[in-house]
Amino acid sequence: MRKPTFSPTKLTTYLTCRIKYHWAYMTPYGRWMRRPNPAFTFGANLHRALDYFHTAGGAEKLSPDALHHALEQLWSDAGFENAQQSEAFKQHGRELVSQYYQAQAEQPPEAVVLFTERMLRRDMGRYILTGRIDRLDEHPDGSLEIIDYKSGRADVDETQVQNDLALHCYALLVQELYPDRPLWIAIYALRPNKKVAVPLDADALEEFRALLDGLVAQILDEDWEILTPRWIPHCAGCEFLELCVRKLGLTHAE
Ligand code: SF4
Repeated sequence: MRKPTFSPTKLTTYLTCRIKYHWAYMTPYGRWMRRPNPAFTFGANLHRALDYFHTAGGAEKLSPDALHHALEQLWSDAGFENAQQSEAFKQHGRELVSQYYQAQAEQPPEAVVLFTERMLRRDMGRYILTGRIDRLDEHPDGSLEIIDYKSGRADVDETQVQNDLALHCYALLVQELYPDRPLWIAIYALRPNKKVAVPLDADALEEFRALLDGLVAQILDEDWEILTPRWIPHCAGCEFLELCVRKLGLTHAE
């Protein structure tokens, strides 16, 4: 039997709302109602441009104009409401890639980019863990830094990095590829052009692995017959709200 697969997105969905997880991953509604939104599309467009930037050799090899041209070429309109909205996001994207370029050009290239935008998977025993790594850097001391781009955040701090579920999942994926390497996890917030990195030692990662195993066991052993939704702040913008109201009797708690 094929092992179930879990990604950070799937795990975060469950932690947000188990009913949402049910709709999204255990019924056809998940596929039917999956629609790109402007924020998601904007992030994906930036990821493609930054992937191109690093794959082409970074600021040493590429001019700022070439990066802007790449953003133009790689831009996708799918997910924006109209052409004007797409153009407004693209203008913002030009500003963000410009400041990213500037920061990369000014920084001495101590770390080497090992890869960008790579999908990894790891057999965790009862399940498969998957995740797409935005960027993996190797420092001169051999340590590896896993970098996650965030295109919407106005700021980032150490606590946010230390508590980031996706980055810990990525660390487990990278650990299998590069065992025994010291690891750092980092969020690169593109709006403020700020990167915050924290070390992640092997004990902390092992502790996370135990928590993750427990979370996955909880999901796999859930009794999905009992679906009693309760109103949470997330409901207001949830794509499954109408389903919850119509089929499960969800009411807005005043
Ligand atoms: S509407 Fe609320 S209860 Fe229903 S799936 Fe979405 S978040 Fe969960």
